[in-house]
Amino acid sequence: SNFAGLGLDPLIVTHLIMKMKIMKPTSIQRTALPALLSTPSDPNNPRDVFIQSQTGSGKTLSFLLPILQDLLPLSSLSYIDRSIGTLAIIIAPTRELAKQISDVLETLLQLRLRPEDESADDPGASSTRLTRWLVSGLLTGGATRTHEKARLRKGIPILVSTPGRLLDHLQNTSSFNVAKCRWLVLDEADRLMDLGFEETIDGIMKGLEGRRKLAMAAVQEGKSMEVGGWDWERRRRTVLCSATIEENVQKLAGTTLVNPLMVKA
Ligand code: AMP
Repeated sequence: SNFAGLGLDPLIVTHLIMKMKIMKPTSIQRTALPALLSTPSDPNNPRDVFIQSQTGSGKTLSFLLPILQDLLPLSSLSYIDRSIGTLAIIIAPTRELAKQISDVLETLLQLRLRPEDESADDPGASSTRLTRWLVSGLLTGGATRTHEKARLRKGIPILVSTPGRLLDHLQNTSSFNVAKCRWLVLDEADRLMDLGFEETIDGIMKGLEGRRKLAMAAVQEGKSMEVGGWDWERRRRTVLCSATIEENVQKLAGTTLVNPLMVKA
């Protein structure tokens, strides 16, 4: 089977082929993509997913492609204000890994909504660039905290971060808006556990939950989360990737995933 047959948008399929020379899905992509491209609000579809696969299997695209496809409708909104905040968070155990994921994401976000605009010099043509809204950002503690805070205030729809910095901002950056966050990916969960991030992840889960509850309370009081007919209140889907399923990874899965679907290459 090919990417289109798995439910991937033809625009994204073309981009994969033309820009990344990626023609055929890998084994893990064939099993993970249909699960993650399904809408989690339908009770028949899986909400949370556990991806068991090795590095080099193509697992990064297994979660990045569904996130991209899910956020694609944003590009039809005429404007997006800062209140949208962060819609997807990807957590990686090390700075190097976070950077690698961010680089793949940047390449994906070069997608144009109308590929024929590729050569146009007309500045208006930039409006068909997805990146106008779907900015990605990397938080690894490499930059100063003040600088990261300023970027978060502007809004970073797709965020890649190491755990410590993410928790730091959840606790200390009031303008870091995660109320509408609909994707959380824990990549290389076995390494996250080996590096001692269990408590940090726990704090992140609580921080995300706490901020969402506050936002929901505001909605109840009549403050709308509605923008452009989009389902902003959709519950979050969490994806955990791990090469192994040792006891400590199972424990992490138990505290982060709800009734997960297991997918294996
Ligand atoms: P990952 O396991 O996500 O670290 O990916 C390992 C490498 O495989 C990366 O260099 C990807 O660009 C590449 N890759 C991912 N998916 C595919 C695919 N479907 N076909 C060919 N190469 C791929």
